[in-house]
Amino acid sequence: MASLGEFEFIDQLIRGQATLGQSFHQDPNALGIGDDAALIPPLAAHEQLAVSTDMLIEGRHYFPDVDPRSLGHKALAVNLSDLAAMGARPVAFTLAAGLRSIDAPWLTAFLQGMLDLARDAQCPLVGGDTTKTAADAPQVFSVTVMGAVPIGQALRRDGLQTGDELWVSGSLGDAAFAVNQRQPNLKLNWPQPRLGLGRALLNIAHAAIDISDGLQSEIRHLLTSSSMRSGVSSAFAAEMNWSALPLGPTLSAAIASGKISQDDADIRAITGGDEYELLFAAPAACAEAIEAIGQSLKLSLTRIGRIVAADAPTIVWRDAEGMPISEALDARLRDGGFKHF
Ligand code: ADP
Ligand code: MG
Repeated sequence: MASLGEFEFIDQLIRGQATLGQSFHQDPNALGIGDDAALIPPLAAHEQLAVSTDMLIEGRHYFPDVDPRSLGHKALAVNLSDLAAMGARPVAFTLAAGLRSIDAPWLTAFLQGMLDLARDAQCPLVGGDTTKTAADAPQVFSVTVMGAVPIGQALRRDGLQTGDELWVSGSLGDAAFAVNQRQPNLKLNWPQPRLGLGRALLNIAHAAIDISDGLQSEIRHLLTSSSMRSGVSSAFAAEMNWSALPLGPTLSAAIASGKISQDDADIRAITGGDEYELLFAAPAACAEAIEAIGQSLKLSLTRIGRIVAADAPTIVWRDAEGMPISEALDARLRDGGFKHF
């Protein structure tokens, strides 16, 4: 068993850093780490709370030899990405950690990565729990993030409308390619939650989701959620433009150097997880407004498909000539999305 002193050490470590540079703590109604519960100041009168939890398990979501600073960043980033996908602004987060042992340099680096991002996003760490796991158990980090979104305005998965265009932020495929090559990669190790984009899309997008399990699988989530929405008369299908896919720079370089074929690269971009880009649907009339948002955020936004009415939720990929892709390619896409179970 770890001694009490070791856990006090963590307590001090976290407490000393969590408040730095966070305007949250200037509010007299705010209380962070140290009491039995944290206190969150009231939200604005027009706002509601958005809450999301994501867990990282050693050996499953990250390699044991990962850079702890990037792991700390990523543990928070994937949660902030969920807030971004709802159009929410960050309010605060908590951290639950199951640790095998107290490795001070490792934990210091982990917290540094996490709290640097927390400061950038103005999302203070306000509490959590630290426990010791069995000696042969994987380490676990669970983050719960709280955000605020204008009442009734959140970007849900079930808001698709016929005629909507599907857009994706940034580029795709580099994270999955880096995992495959076991190479460090900015996209994989230092994902940037698209918080500014999510908030800019309030009142513009009908639906949004962040890409954690792969584009194809997130499109399916939008289609099935929206098709089940009450009052919807038919299902929704997605007509996708294969040639519009924005491939990441690493993947593009790998094609250029002959390391990977164009088809294989495209399939990685469509099925690869860990992207943390936003996939969103908006009426065609909003295209100019969306382009302007991309320019002001210096973030590329690409139209990759559109939503049509259908008998069942389906995804049809078409080539540059508008022809459906080959059965062979389609079969490779169908089960390519990363599934946890
Ligand atoms: P309690 O027994 O009341 O749950 P703890 O000893 O578990 O209190 O925690 C003491 C304080 O330290 C609490 O404010 C708690 O939120 C905070 N804390 C403990 N572990 C973490 C952690 N991993 N991250 C952030 N805060 C933590
Ligand atoms: Mg506790």
